[in-house]
Amino acid sequence: MIENQNIKLKTPRNVEPTFQADDTDVEYSLRPRTLAEYIGQNKAKENLRVFISAAKARGESLDHVLLYGPPGLGKTTLAGIIANEMGTNIKITSGPAIEKAGDLAALLTNLQDGDVLFIDEIHRLSRQVEEVLYPAMEDSALDIMIGKGPSAQSIRVDLPHFTLVGATTRAGQLTGPLRDRFGVILRLELYDEAELKEIIMRSSVILAIPTTNEGAAEMSHRSRGTPRIANRLLKRVRDFAEVLGNGTITKDLADIALGRLEIDHLGLDSLDRRFLTMLIKGYAGGPVGLETLASAIGEESVTLEDVCEPFLMQLGFVARTNRGRTATRLAYEHLGIEQTGQLSLE
Ligand code: ADP
Repeated sequence: MIENQNIKLKTPRNVEPTFQADDTDVEYSLRPRTLAEYIGQNKAKENLRVFISAAKARGESLDHVLLYGPPGLGKTTLAGIIANEMGTNIKITSGPAIEKAGDLAALLTNLQDGDVLFIDEIHRLSRQVEEVLYPAMEDSALDIMIGKGPSAQSIRVDLPHFTLVGATTRAGQLTGPLRDRFGVILRLELYDEAELKEIIMRSSVILAIPTTNEGAAEMSHRSRGTPRIANRLLKRVRDFAEVLGNGTITKDLADIALGRLEIDHLGLDSLDRRFLTMLIKGYAGGPVGLETLASAIGEESVTLEDVCEPFLMQLGFVARTNRGRTATRLAYEHLGIEQTGQLSLE
């Protein structure tokens, strides 16, 4: 059951890994429902498989799970799979949606034994809300204050046993006490090309889009390691294949379509290129602080940090130093800009 989805209604960016309104229907049908269907993330998946089997064998609910990694890598999907594999229900909400301690108390008291409560962007919970979560996670209990001043009394109410699955793009921003209460902490990694190709092939079967092997390979190569982007590119390229070709996605068609969408052969889009160009031309390749860079190109620093950087760093185009961001020789080469002077880091 979906209680709250963070639907962003801004200019669509095809390689934006965060959830867009346009993704709703398709994401629902494309979401894997079991661990066996979930492609890649083998380390996280194998560990989860063990923990789920053990909890089921003991007849207990699964320990609380924290999933972290960049957006679009399958955290929500994995939470749904956990509930499905445990044979329980899932309630989905997000950190910013839980404004008051009372909102969380209401959510918790409505859970049933064994349920999964998924909190996306859990690092954005307020301190007061977090404090309600501690006894809930530790003792399946809710501490309620009755009255005010010296006569105030705290009473404890028992809650059903539940599994909290928290997701965050920034594990570093979680408070220590909250992080310590998760029994299982799993980091999701960017996907490799073979895995993305498998995801694209699976999606093209579900959506009945004829796609050649080479066509899928081309799209996977340009999906910046993110399944949500891979699925979105598949949908966009399908449009071009239907209008410009005979409906089948071939390598050539994928290439033409992605070129029109301004996604280059490594998967960089115009924002990535603006980021790199500003870093190189505006700040001589760095080091420069992220905030400065963000305001220079008119983007939010969170977007640059969560969306552009993980991928640019994976490509080895950007390095993070304690004095700021630096462009590497590879970034100069990719943009075809000649590198003058000595690079401060490489
Ligand atoms: P997150 O919560 O990390 O932002 P989601 O779980 O919403 O990401 O995943 C985005 C989309 O990507 C899902 O709709 C799903 O179709 C697809 N997806 C994610 N991970 C996988 C995977 N391992 N295998 C197949 N599809 C996946």
